[in-house]
Amino acid sequence: MPELPEVEALAADLRGRVVGRRIERVDVAAISALKTFDPPATALHGREVTGAGRFGKFLDLIVGDLHLVVHLARAGWLHYRDALPPAPLKPGKGPIALRVRLDNGGGFDLTEQGTQKRLAAYLVRDPAEVPGVSKLGPDALSSDLATFAARLRSRRGQVKGVLTDQEVLAGVGNAYSDEILHRARLSPFAITDRLTDEQLAGLYEATQVTLKDAVSRSVGQGAASLKGEKRSGLVVHNRTGLPCPVCGDTIREVSFADSSLQYCPGCQTGGKPLADRRLSKLLR
Ligand SMILES: [Zn+2]
Repeated sequence: MPELPEVEALAADLRGRVVGRRIERVDVAAISALKTFDPPATALHGREVTGAGRFGKFLDLIVGDLHLVVHLARAGWLHYRDALPPAPLKPGKGPIALRVRLDNGGGFDLTEQGTQKRLAAYLVRDPAEVPGVSKLGPDALSSDLATFAARLRSRRGQVKGVLTDQEVLAGVGNAYSDEILHRARLSPFAITDRLTDEQLAGLYEATQVTLKDAVSRSVGQGAASLKGEKRSGLVVHNRTGLPCPVCGDTIREVSFADSSLQYCPGCQTGGKPLADRRLSKLLR
């Protein structure tokens, strides 16, 4: 799933390629992906793209006084093409949810792989009309230490869950939270209101460094190479069974119904593996 650094890079890529161009047509191939009906998608026709940005993990294409706000969800992505095929997009088939065609013959597709269709696009006059945007906490990258610490302490729970709760802090998801907690040498199951000031300061520092590193690696990469760039920068996430580059211990994982987390026992849990409920069920 694209998180803050990838969405930041996609916005930067769009600013370079799309801003200043006029939208010729918008084709909605997956009706369920467009969550709003007023204004209609046709309201974008003939208008100039004036900016691109993000709110947490939401991408914002600014078209004058309208915003096309997109949440790519787990399997969504943006593909820019210098030349789009001229035929209109046929609804219902294939991974393309929405196509934005520009006046220079290029444009971009919003796509979603797999059967779970979660990609969501909203055409609104004010981004705050998007439910997920209006509830976002402060941005993880632009929060200062005091805000960060207050937000984390505002919600009692396992730090992994609190850090990825978009209403607490916006932008961090499953992959970068694994990386941040590893860098901060904290167990993903540490309870937020028991973290010391020192641990919170360390977690803040780890969040800033991890996200800034990822943003600087990602921005300047076109959408096509971003996913590979993300993978190559990860130290623990999706690296179960491989050695930790810091201490050499074997990276382990804990699985949940539809996700998993990875961590290094040597760096994060005093060498002790965390209980994996799925695994212990299998062994029983
Ligand atoms: Zn380690």
